[in-house]
Amino acid sequence: MPKYIFCTGGVVSSVGKGVTAAAIGRILKSRGVKVAIQKLDPYLNVDPGTMSPYQHGEVFVTADGAETDLDLGHYERFTDENLDQTCNVTTGQIYAEVIRKERRGDYLGGTIQVIPHITNEIKRRIALVGAKSDPQVVIVEVGGTVGDIEGQPFFEAIRQMRADIGRDQTLYVHVTFLPYIGATSELKTKPTQHSVRELRGIGIQPQVIIARTDHAVSQEIVDKIALFCDVERRAVIPLETTDNIYDVPLVLEDAGLGDYIVEQLQLETDPPELGEWRDLVRRMRGVSELLRVAIVGKYVELRDAYISVKEALSHAAVAHNRDLEIEWVYSGDLEKDRCWEQLDGVSGIVVPGGFGYRGIEGKILAAQYARNRQVPYLGLCLGMQVMCIEFARSVLGLEDANSTEFDSSCEHPVIDLMPDQQGVVNLGGTMRLGIYPCVLSSSTEAARAYQQPAVDERHRHRFEFNNRYRDMFEQAGARFSGLSPDDRLVEIMELVDHPFMLGSQFHPEFRSRPNRPHPLFLAFIQAAMSYAVSASPQSEPESHSAEVEA
Ligand code: GLN
Repeated sequence: MPKYIFCTGGVVSSVGKGVTAAAIGRILKSRGVKVAIQKLDPYLNVDPGTMSPYQHGEVFVTADGAETDLDLGHYERFTDENLDQTCNVTTGQIYAEVIRKERRGDYLGGTIQVIPHITNEIKRRIALVGAKSDPQVVIVEVGGTVGDIEGQPFFEAIRQMRADIGRDQTLYVHVTFLPYIGATSELKTKPTQHSVRELRGIGIQPQVIIARTDHAVSQEIVDKIALFCDVERRAVIPLETTDNIYDVPLVLEDAGLGDYIVEQLQLETDPPELGEWRDLVRRMRGVSELLRVAIVGKYVELRDAYISVKEALSHAAVAHNRDLEIEWVYSGDLEKDRCWEQLDGVSGIVVPGGFGYRGIEGKILAAQYARNRQVPYLGLCLGMQVMCIEFARSVLGLEDANSTEFDSSCEHPVIDLMPDQQGVVNLGGTMRLGIYPCVLSSSTEAARAYQQPAVDERHRHRFEFNNRYRDMFEQAGARFSGLSPDDRLVEIMELVDHPFMLGSQFHPEFRSRPNRPHPLFLAFIQAAMSYAVSASPQSEPESHSAEVEA
């Protein structure tokens, strides 16, 4: 039976509760403790797969094909454990299951209520985590903040768990925020006190308070929080905003959180071994040589939409001793012939995944720019599809080439709905999701990058390269360097006559770890570095319009 750490949030959201939970995972793992992490999301959607990135940021895809909250990306990157579909639970899933059972007659004669039916289902789902991997500690993060109406059943369920499995088997960590009042130059603890009171109203007394803040926290403030919130002084841990999220486990460990958790949960562990992690953070901070790479996307004002891509790029950059600077380019601007100057001086272009027509033509233009100017290009899922459309239009002269996602009646559907997707009517959870094998052709960029004949990568898409065009593409200088084992699906396309122009139908970014960057990102950054060296700083940037073919 695992022990449980419940992470709740108070005051405001978006203060890094997910990173904190992930960091606790890393701290425990550094002591040899086997951990699993789960996120409980109180919203009513079954999963975030059908939500707009404006609502939710990135959808993180697990190996077993669950579309999950982006915090699972933090969990995987910090703990280096692959999570699965049990690790993200939503109100939508809980109610769907309870109602399914009700229709089946499981509760015949009974009235179904939030307590106990909904809370029992929540507890059942919590218990499912790690059923396969048998963790010693399960960290459970409750999304949102205490007091949110949707969150109530989840708070009640985690409250009950203390009585169910024992006081010394559970630990409640509350992550709050200390606002700073500029006029008087002081940090305020009152909202933290209120959120702890709210939590106590539900019956949960937190044992640890992590106080997020943008300013240094005095001992006086710590003492005050301890007194007013009835938490031990050593368990009030200030967590100042850091320039590097991978520093968070170190800050928490150095503040004594690891020892406190071990003591409270009576865990038998090895001494903490965070040396490698410290080196990693030191290396991240030590790199000084700048490398500029553009991400051309639709949600660039919303960095969370591409968080795994951004992390994967920076993992690879650090491994190559480069300080990554990302130029966020809105593809909609490019199609209006605006903001091209943002691409001046970048050494690589990434077009990430996406859905829907808005901004597509700008992404196609970005692929064209990369191909014409021999700028390294990495296309991720939609980014690969865009690269194919651009190649078809400009190189093969198929002017009306498109994806049927954007133009269902185009003359040359070089990207088309996968056969298995024909006739799919429900949108939720019905894409090609999770890991599938990909066989690599030797002597290609992909094979050189991976250094292995076959790989498993995570997918999330409905559309795919149209095999009718394979021969035409190959004859004109495209190479399909990664295919499904049955040869049916194109998984990687690259261009022969280009230093690095590669697109993958899968999402390699989900597998990148700070201490184990993904091979395709490493290869892309390597190519960008070579490009940076070869690009003459003196040469006048040509006007874009002169470059546009077709
Ligand atoms: N919209 C495209 C498809 O469904 C690409 C999806 C993606 O980029 N994840 O195939």
